[in-house]
Amino acid sequence: MRILGRRRAESYRFAGLRPAADMYERGPFAVKPAHSQRAEQGNVMAIDFEIPPEAKEVRERVRKWVQSECIPAEKELDSKPLPDVLGPLRKKARAQGLWCPFVPEEYGGMGLGPLANALVQMELGESSLGALSMNTQGPDDASMMTILTHGNGYQKDKFLKPLLNGDKRICFSMTEKASGADATGMQTRAVKDGKGNYVLNGEKWFSSSASVANMALVMAKTNPEAPRHRQFSTFIVELPNPGYTIKRNVHNMAIEGEHDDVLKGGHSEIVLKDLVVPEANLLGGEGNGFNMGQHRLAYGRLRHGMHNVAKAQRALDMAVAHVTKRSTFGQLLADRQAVQFMLAECATQLYIGRLMLLHIAYKAEKGLDLTQENSIAKVYLAHMVHHVIDTAIQLHGALGFSLDTPLAKWYTQVRSQRLVDGPDEVHRWKVGRNVIKAYKQYGSTALAAGGDLL
Ligand SMILES: Cc1cc2nc3c(=O)[nH]c(=O)nc-3n(C[C@H](O)[C@H](O)[C@H](O)COP(=O)(O)OP(=O)(O)OC[C@H]3O[C@@H](n4cnc5c(N)ncnc54)[C@H](O)[C@@H]3O)c2cc1C
Repeated sequence: MRILGRRRAESYRFAGLRPAADMYERGPFAVKPAHSQRAEQGNVMAIDFEIPPEAKEVRERVRKWVQSECIPAEKELDSKPLPDVLGPLRKKARAQGLWCPFVPEEYGGMGLGPLANALVQMELGESSLGALSMNTQGPDDASMMTILTHGNGYQKDKFLKPLLNGDKRICFSMTEKASGADATGMQTRAVKDGKGNYVLNGEKWFSSSASVANMALVMAKTNPEAPRHRQFSTFIVELPNPGYTIKRNVHNMAIEGEHDDVLKGGHSEIVLKDLVVPEANLLGGEGNGFNMGQHRLAYGRLRHGMHNVAKAQRALDMAVAHVTKRSTFGQLLADRQAVQFMLAECATQLYIGRLMLLHIAYKAEKGLDLTQENSIAKVYLAHMVHHVIDTAIQLHGALGFSLDTPLAKWYTQVRSQRLVDGPDEVHRWKVGRNVIKAYKQYGSTALAAGGDLL
């Protein structure tokens, strides 16, 4: 896929472009219409949906990797402990150069830009071992990106290196029982002790993977007097730590796989009691925690969306495999128009979802503002994957409801997509406000509704 201006397309190389690390959240919505930003870059846009050969090649390699190595390895988890499966898999992936896709080459990654990374992630999501095998699993990936973008030399050396090397894992502790959708309601306090440390007290909840993490990014209020979005800072906390206690992994509606406790860890409730953090572990400076958190979540939302496309694709394939074999009332299900309509709706939604992600990748490649599209896609893709899996369950009948296929498990897991990284309503609220803002500013809502595509 190449939706680049002709001149730029000639010199386009996805690898070695500006690293993805700083590309996913760009300033306030529509400071300028996207077309005028492009005009300033002297770039005449042509839409060409051919994927650049380099991106195609890497996508093919990852597709083959997932299909021939990761999906078969999932079965090995039934008889072997995770390290015995993941260890050799990671070694093999890395030897083939399949490692940390969006991380710049000088840091040991593949240096893929947003488009190539999107294509790769849309493959990796097909297997529970896909992203893990290439050390690009959530929630770690977005935190790696944060340290990459905002960390100083010491922090990159001490904390980022082992993460990029696959030796350590990291979780993200922002949400509290006191505040979720409105993160500015966080109550956890960080106060300097005068001895070169901050001391944190408070609580966190739904910190994914905390139970398998060796460090955490923890957000806390450092200055209650500052403007609302400048009150918070982010700290790198090494785990285990007596001041950071996992009270429990919260039981939830998702049916997890047998090995998810080691693959992903739970969603933990955390008590922060007199947690001592050296000042050297303050990331990105005091008061920048909220903005860094939004930057991090922006990539997390996209990665979730990319993996949702992969999962929905697998579910649709399963649905078709089933209806092309199953007959009722003397006719193959696949030959019934009602069934074909159901498949058509899934195909339509998958198509829209893919286009959204590719358009966002294009905007990220060009450094254009993509906050509006990110929110639209986040909500859409969460519903899309839910709908496609639901349809696949319906077409499988009781078999779909059973745990004999992964569909029922996926159905319970993807429900969280409408909540994580900001619930539907908060994104729609933002999108709706931007629609009004665009109309007031430019006399048309088009710019807030993908209008710059045309
Ligand atoms: C599976 C899972 C994993 C998670 N992982 C992490 C993690 O690793 N780290 C982390 O810090 N957090 C994590 N979270 C927390 C997640 O980010 C929050 O759950 C989310 O932001 C919503 O916050 P809340 O649950 O407190 O809901 P609340 O803020 O209490 O909101 C409840 C509901 O109110 C409605 N609502 C809220 N605001 C508005 C509004 N302005 N307009 C209209 N309706 C509104 C929405 O329907 C919303 O779902 C995770 C959550 C889940 C479910």
